[in-house]
Amino acid sequence: MKNRSNVGAAALAVLAVCLAAWTLTGCAKNSDKPRIGVAIYKFDDTFMSTVRNAISKAGEENATVEIVDSQNAQPTQNDQIDNFISRSVKALAINPVDRTAAAVIIQKAKAADVPVVFFNREPLASDMQAWDKIYYVGARAEESGTYQGQIAVDYFRGNPGADKNGDGVIQYIMIMGEPGHQDAELRTEYSVKAITDAGLRVEQLARDTAMWDRVRGQEKMSAFLAAHGERIELVLCNNDDMALGAIEALKAEGYNTGGAKYIPVIGVDATAPALEAIENGTLLGTVLNDGQNQGQAAYDIAFAVATGANPSSTGWTLDGGKYVWVPYQMVTRANYLQFK
Ligand code: BGC
Repeated sequence: MKNRSNVGAAALAVLAVCLAAWTLTGCAKNSDKPRIGVAIYKFDDTFMSTVRNAISKAGEENATVEIVDSQNAQPTQNDQIDNFISRSVKALAINPVDRTAAAVIIQKAKAADVPVVFFNREPLASDMQAWDKIYYVGARAEESGTYQGQIAVDYFRGNPGADKNGDGVIQYIMIMGEPGHQDAELRTEYSVKAITDAGLRVEQLARDTAMWDRVRGQEKMSAFLAAHGERIELVLCNNDDMALGAIEALKAEGYNTGGAKYIPVIGVDATAPALEAIENGTLLGTVLNDGQNQGQAAYDIAFAVATGANPSSTGWTLDGGKYVWVPYQMVTRANYLQFK
């Protein structure tokens, strides 16, 4: 008994010393670290969770990174930016709710001389030119659409029976992300363009937005199935969450469950559940939207400008001195394992 309590007391004493030392060094270190304010358009977005986690992990050691949820409301985000500025952040990393609101954000930041790295939602080119301390980290939306189209082309070339009614035309459904988002607009355009550029003919049966959301994707697909049923030969979705929702709707009608009833569905992002869906054969393919590297690049540029370093010193290539483009990659059954 006695021995035990002695050991316990000694351990407690050591712990107390350690805690004191840790607190002191912790405090000292924290005050040296630049504060970086990060706003995400909404936390409840699968892809943005990957980017958010990448940013917070990247900043763990050398910065004090504060990340806030703008809850899909631009006025909320504007207040959060005011708050960051009033608390003397050294840089901002902003995923705008509304990319056309960048002008207002830039005005605020410029007045306080706080550099801004935008990411995932690309400000208009004219806004990007409004100040030299503005950067953008993202991916070229056209590229993701083109890869989606190429996945469809490979599939239809390899499976002539996929043209179910044999009319030589691919009847397709388009499920879109948020209107006005560059990824929604350009993926929609370039996926179809890649198919027609390859010499295949297409007919759009229907298109609608499901706002990047899985449940809405499912609802839209149920309605499209009710209206067009067997005529549908392809479903293109601007992201994986909506594609997975569409697959739920298809399964409910007996499609994509391993039998003969099958409609190819293609997404973008390469989220973990999407890779599983490729594995189990319900999703034809997707495109890696590299949130890991986008988060890392956004942090690296923000940290560089927060500490007065040249952003080019990060190792990322800055196109026009302002843009970091992280490449997309095509993902199908042939290579999905390398992304798991
Ligand atoms: C992703 C979507 C995401 C959106 C958020 C896109 O790049 O593909 O999954 O919802 O960004 O802005």
